[in-house]
Amino acid sequence: MVDKAMSDAIQAAVEQGFEEQVAFTQDLVRLPSLRGREATAQDFLARELKNRGFAVDRWKIDVADIENMPGYSPKLDGYEDAYVTVGSLRCDAPQGRSLIINGHIDVVPEGPHDMWSTPPFDPVIKDGWMHGRGAGDMKSGWVCGLFALEALKRAGYRPAADVAIEAVIEEESTGNGALACLQRGYRADAALIPEPMGNAVMRSQVGVMWFHCVVRGHPVHVAYAGRGANAIEAAYRLIGELHTLEDAWNKRGHEAYAKNDHPLNFNVGKIEGGDWASSVPAWCRFDMRVGVFPGQDLATARKEVETCLAEAARKDPFLANNPPEVVWDGFQAEGFIQEPGTEVEATLAASHKAIFGKDMEERALTGTTDARFFGLYAKMPALVYGPIAENIHGFDERVDLASCKDVTKAIALFIADWCGLRPA
Ligand SMILES: [Zn+2]
Repeated sequence: MVDKAMSDAIQAAVEQGFEEQVAFTQDLVRLPSLRGREATAQDFLARELKNRGFAVDRWKIDVADIENMPGYSPKLDGYEDAYVTVGSLRCDAPQGRSLIINGHIDVVPEGPHDMWSTPPFDPVIKDGWMHGRGAGDMKSGWVCGLFALEALKRAGYRPAADVAIEAVIEEESTGNGALACLQRGYRADAALIPEPMGNAVMRSQVGVMWFHCVVRGHPVHVAYAGRGANAIEAAYRLIGELHTLEDAWNKRGHEAYAKNDHPLNFNVGKIEGGDWASSVPAWCRFDMRVGVFPGQDLATARKEVETCLAEAARKDPFLANNPPEVVWDGFQAEGFIQEPGTEVEATLAASHKAIFGKDMEERALTGTTDARFFGLYAKMPALVYGPIAENIHGFDERVDLASCKDVTKAIALFIADWCGLRPA
């Protein structure tokens, strides 16, 4: 454990740097790093990391490099500017244990701007909260990781083992950014992902799969609608059947989600179809996200979804002969449990307690994170731990700045303890 004098010095260094940390977070939130448009944010981070003394590795994801690796998800379109940035602080003679700090800088679409109280890419601070798309999920968390390292430097130290900070993309759609880092060779004794966990550590995450379903119809003039087959209304019936499957999966239950009666959510996230109000629609496409439990086999789960749709189609006179087409694109992510009892978690828990004055709580997440790549495919313990955020993926997303400061302190103490320190 870090002694009191050093702990005080590190905490003071976080305090001294906090104004700059907030401004840095604002700069990052201002860059609208939506899927396919993350390159400017990566340029910004690569520049900042270099200026702060990190060795910077920045490369473009080549799907050919990763598509045969476990954990790969079929890519969506738009990989022209798919860059990943890693800043490394390497040691000549490492003594402590190495660490990867990983965070994603891609953000989800912000939706209609008129439904935000403040513009989504103008990070306004009100009552101690920073607002904006990505402020909570998870640009602030990524910056907590960076400024924990900066605080150690300000206090006159650097880690006594190799530390890399990864800025990945695609976390919200495939996870292929984190996978590309594994393919590139980045490994450490542990990984820390400062996702907005509400000052707590994640114990489990569900698996997530995306697919889209194309439904055909028979177009006729609406005057004779009875002779046609309405693709949009058929899609609604199929969606209803999928929700029945969702209930069945939730009923199976999982011990990690014993306190949650509906951890697996099937969500129609997008739908389009038809061409004309007075024509029975000939087509409909909907995109769905389904959740699966840790340990649930993805190939079996896909089969169950396809069987559900095929059986529903058989009950429909038109769809029986024109079955809906299912395409699995985007997330094909397994669930993951970070088993308790690791040394790295005990180290983080002690650092957390030193700052917050109470034990670190754990969370069972009903979404996914990139932790699965480290935990399942690189056999590294992966701790997901970060600040308090609200309305992530919604309107008026925001992050609690006091929580960011405390989390930065806890991460700085954790790095000091896990990696060890030496004079800068
Ligand atoms: Zn996130």
